[in-house]
Amino acid sequence: RPVVFSGIQPTGSIHIGNYFGAIKQWVTGQDDAENIFCLVDMHALTVPQDPAALRAQILETATVLLAAGIDPAKSRLFVQSDVREHGELTWYLSCVAAMGQLGRMTQYKEKSEAQRGEVRVGLFAYPLLMAADILLYRTTHVPVGEDQKQHIELTRDLAQRFNAAYGGVFVLPEPAIPAAGARIMGLDDPTKKMSKSVAGSYHAIRVLDPPEQIRKAVMSAQTDSGREIRIDPARPGVTNLLAIYMAASGTSAAEAEAHFAGARGYGDVKKELVDLLVETLRPLRERYAELAADPATVHELLCAGADAVRPIARATADAAKRAMGVGS
Ligand code: ATP
Ligand code: MG
Repeated sequence: RPVVFSGIQPTGSIHIGNYFGAIKQWVTGQDDAENIFCLVDMHALTVPQDPAALRAQILETATVLLAAGIDPAKSRLFVQSDVREHGELTWYLSCVAAMGQLGRMTQYKEKSEAQRGEVRVGLFAYPLLMAADILLYRTTHVPVGEDQKQHIELTRDLAQRFNAAYGGVFVLPEPAIPAAGARIMGLDDPTKKMSKSVAGSYHAIRVLDPPEQIRKAVMSAQTDSGREIRIDPARPGVTNLLAIYMAASGTSAAEAEAHFAGARGYGDVKKELVDLLVETLRPLRERYAELAADPATVHELLCAGADAVRPIARATADAAKRAMGVGS
């Protein structure tokens, strides 16, 4: 049976990129595999965080995932730092990884620019922790957005290096990247990926945004000169609006273009997109309000999730230890 593992950082409110790129796949695939979903709070520490805000964000993120349809009867949901083996395996992997391969990671290059002057070791080592997350659970499939593809490739490479040196301990995981919505761009700048950690009230559409906020963000989205409604790399603004439309409506590129063939301009596309997003996100928003009223239950669920996955993580970490020759 396939094992699906994926994670999300509690670095800010979940946006439609996270939803269409990752979470929607987690929810729809729940009947077809063993599912393990992780709030990767140790990853969040690679950039400065306020401790109280981080703690609140962990609970909010967990509640959003449940509201989106992660079903505790089918999937394990837990907090990374509650399972110590993630840190442990990271160390072992750091002893097979090369500095050069970590330095080539796009996410490291982008995020380290924002930490100019003092780039933290954790930001550099991030992909090792992510590889540990995935490898601990003998994961076969990792549903993620396109930006994480490079990290999964690195994970495979590290697993292969380890297996070649010490014997077949790790399963090689495959990325699972959706056909639509794998890379939603910022509304304020369609050449940059929509991200939780980017500031600006019109950068992202958060899944919990009230309808009025969604309307303002979409209507203010940066578009291009011209009025043709088609997917075109030279027109990142309208291409992004169409990408969001395709992800939310489940249409193909050709269908989306045909749908807007009679539109008079970008304004028409935006108006329709507002309605579509408000309706698509409505059930999530309503379910969130119910679940958020009972944070103790969400917390218990996270504890139960960690208890359930810990033995799997322990078994893999022990196998890695034995293979490397450490331990008493
Ligand atoms: P941060 O800015 O803190 O890195 P993020 O928005 O990039 O936040 P992550 O927690 O790093 O979110 O990633 C969670 C999941 O969402 C990953 O699978 C990632 O590939 C996916 N994802 C993130 N941003 C986008 C996006 N703009 N479009 C599609 N998928 C995305
Ligand atoms: Mg990210």
